[in-house]
Amino acid sequence: MEEEDHNCDADEEVTVHKRSLAAPYVRLCREVMRHSESTVPGDAFSEWTMQLHTRGLGNDVCVCGKKHIVELNSLENRVNSQVLYPVGSSCVKYFSEELVEEWKAMRSTFMRERAARIKALRLGFGKYASKTYEEVGEQDPFYAQWLMSLSKFATNPANDTYHPDNTEIHRLLQKGIDASTKKKSKCMLILDK
Ligand SMILES: [Zn+2]
Repeated sequence: MEEEDHNCDADEEVTVHKRSLAAPYVRLCREVMRHSESTVPGDAFSEWTMQLHTRGLGNDVCVCGKKHIVELNSLENRVNSQVLYPVGSSCVKYFSEELVEEWKAMRSTFMRERAARIKALRLGFGKYASKTYEEVGEQDPFYAQWLMSLSKFATNPANDTYHPDNTEIHRLLQKGIDASTKKKSKCMLILDK
């Protein structure tokens, strides 16, 4: 058998390469092998395709055990329909070139759509109180949750969740939250129709 890049299933191999293989990679390999049909690691990795790309709040744990991942990718096995979730961006890169291309495309679509949603958001008070945060939450609970979690991190260009509009949104959100505390009026988000 020829030497595989993803040679990780046999315990002996893991031991031999212990110093060169990072523990998360070994755990990823085990998860992939466990949910794939092929018993050859390289082939097992190529059974997988991208299913979904989304983002979390940094509280999630990758299938490899890596904590605080932001990207949540869902991968589906073409052969047996099993799903691996969540897979972080560092682990996605170990899969086939095709999968990595799919991931890049899904990721850029996701970012473009999110930027459009951010652009369409307005903050308001008073008579708009019926169009509240819940309305945004109903359309996209994940996004609403993310939006409410915006912090100085998200306004830092070095951070992964950075978007150029974040500074302004965060300022408005904070203003709304302060106003709702002081004036007992609700901070709300209105979707521009
Ligand atoms: Zn991982």
